[in-house]
Amino acid sequence: MEKTIIKDQLNRPLRDLRISVIDRCNFRCTYCMPAEKFGPDFAFLPKSELLTYEEIERLAKIFVSLGVEKIRLTGGEPLLRKDLPTLVKKLSEIEGLKDIGLTTNGVLLPKFAKELKEAGLLRVNVSLDTLNSELFGKINGRGVGVDVILEGIKAAQDAGLGVKINMVVKKGLNDSEIVPMARFCKEQGLQLRFIEYMDVGSTNGWKMDDVVTKKEIYELLKEHYLLEPVDPAYFGEVAKRYRYEGTNVDVGFIPSVSESFCSSCTRSRLSANGQIFTCLFNGEGHDIKEFMRKDVTDEEIADRITSIWSGRKDRYSDERTEESVKTRKKIEMSYIGG
Ligand code: SAM
Ligand code: SF4
Ligand code: SF4
Repeated sequence: MEKTIIKDQLNRPLRDLRISVIDRCNFRCTYCMPAEKFGPDFAFLPKSELLTYEEIERLAKIFVSLGVEKIRLTGGEPLLRKDLPTLVKKLSEIEGLKDIGLTTNGVLLPKFAKELKEAGLLRVNVSLDTLNSELFGKINGRGVGVDVILEGIKAAQDAGLGVKINMVVKKGLNDSEIVPMARFCKEQGLQLRFIEYMDVGSTNGWKMDDVVTKKEIYELLKEHYLLEPVDPAYFGEVAKRYRYEGTNVDVGFIPSVSESFCSSCTRSRLSANGQIFTCLFNGEGHDIKEFMRKDVTDEEIADRITSIWSGRKDRYSDERTEESVKTRKKIEMSYIGG
């Protein structure tokens, strides 16, 4: 397909795509899928509702023809989806796609890292919010200790994958772990990204007071390290990066709440059951699965995606108010994939 660049109402091109491949997870992180809300009876999507790998591949090709250069696979926990390397291989063969990444809790990386790399995966973001096993077990709601994740990180590094660490910081929960995590990642040469705790979904009981802002984290780090700012690598780079002076190790911040970056947001999301979301904070998506399961051509699918993107005006984080936090219906993070 010929390449076209499409822009939304605020002149933002469509550049990257997050694909959630599954809504299930082996963790119950307090800030994402709290165990009390996602209990044994929680109704996850049946398999027939999930997009098949062939459907994901077809959509990915069309998205790339509309300007997407980067794809990140996520979930739920994406490594719980059967044969994920098969999907990675299909995606890695798409002409014009420059980058394929994966966000994972890391538990299954020892099993899959090598195969994923061989299939064409370039990088993984591993979520780790503390180095304290007892606390980590509480955060993940499953009592899983830190060693399991460290093994996953090592497996990814050994396989030759680029590795970044995602740490969601929540006040009173793991803010005491900011400096130990920074120290550990600096020593290991791992890029750590501090993520501000967000009001995604409606099950995590988010409060503004629970957010530790980028500024607060930065000020704390500055007491321990000399940091120099790093220029964005490309338009729309979400992380604000700094380098530990005299090293080539970066540390990043995703200040989604305190310094919103909607004006350069070029990201679309595809949920596991085939809905397109143009913002992490949408309540409902736009169906693409049922549409593509009819007898439609690639051009018709491309037209539908173009029409969705062209109508996009989202800038939720720019406009966040106490009121919108309470009243706006939002899709769960585990469903849309962060
Ligand atoms: N299960 C995988 C994992 O945890 O990496 C992938 C899906 S998870 C939803 C994607 C990312 O969203 C993770 O880095 C996770 O820490 C982050 N996340 C989840 N809930 C969040 C919240 N309320 N605020 C900020 N980030 C959150
Ligand atoms: Fe699962 Fe990731 Fe959500 Fe934790 S953050 S519950 S690992 S989807
Ligand atoms: Fe993009 Fe929506 Fe986040 Fe703004 S709030 S940066 S539009 S996903």
